[in-house]
Amino acid sequence: MRDIEHLEAMRAWSQATRRAGERIVFVPTMGALHAGHIALIQRARGLGDHVVVSLFVNPTQFGPGEDFDRYPRMLEADREACRAHAVDVFFRPSAEAMYPPGHSVYVQEDRLSQPLCGARRPGHFRGVLTVVAQLFNLVQPHTAVFGQKDAQQARLIQQMARDLHMGVEVRMAPTVREADGLAMSSRNRYLSAVQRAQAPALARALAHARAVYEAGRRDAAEICSEIRAQCARWAPEAALEYVEAMDFDRMEPVDQCAPGTLLAIGARLGATRLIDNILLDAGTVADRFGLLPEDG
Ligand code: AMP
Repeated sequence: MRDIEHLEAMRAWSQATRRAGERIVFVPTMGALHAGHIALIQRARGLGDHVVVSLFVNPTQFGPGEDFDRYPRMLEADREACRAHAVDVFFRPSAEAMYPPGHSVYVQEDRLSQPLCGARRPGHFRGVLTVVAQLFNLVQPHTAVFGQKDAQQARLIQQMARDLHMGVEVRMAPTVREADGLAMSSRNRYLSAVQRAQAPALARALAHARAVYEAGRRDAAEICSEIRAQCARWAPEAALEYVEAMDFDRMEPVDQCAPGTLLAIGARLGATRLIDNILLDAGTVADRFGLLPEDG
């Protein structure tokens, strides 16, 4: 495995690899790698010749008062995890190189970034899109893999790649969960024992909503209130930030749930923000959104 820190070394590797006609698949991360990240790496392997994983805790996507300073950082363990999973390039640029003094260009999206997490974390997606655009320019991947865990983020990156003609194919991999359903996240480690016991309520509420939908109910307001009721029952300490049924393509609320509807929850358990979502009848929209299959 190559361990690359410097931007020009990354670019040189990518250019040489592309010249050799080989396909680069890219998995960007903020580190503290868990089984969700590893699943993306494994999916990436099947999509090209070389897998590049980046580790960068991007300062511009954290708001004031968010967890940038205490975000888990474990470079050595992450490097070893990548090595163990046969990653070809481990790219870990410094913040100083990514944002040198005088940096002033940002990527902003004006529509899909407005609801859900965008409404609660001003500037978050601007920071995400900016760093992903930078990373795409450095790594020059043919394909990039993102997790459905952050569905709005994946959808936005797809839109950016398309609108800015980046020539990167953006794929979305299924959410990896703990045995009790909790979506894996680097932030789960912040949860107290009581909070950890309540956290699977989000996934449970979404699974319940899927069952209700599959039984024939379509009314979005009703399905969202079922989700709220389930969360209140199983996670009394969770403060819900949003429960919404959105058209995944347009990221606009729907009245009736249908194939391609995203049911999304954002909640706080104490100081920890948790998000989770499901796509209804995902198979019917898989090709349109580059979804990788559940079992693949
Ligand atoms: P992060 O390090 O949290 O920025 O995540 C890096 C990538 O891993 C993003 O594309 C995330 O959506 C993805 N990811 C994080 N958690 C999971 C999970 N539980 N299942 C699948 N993908 C995930």
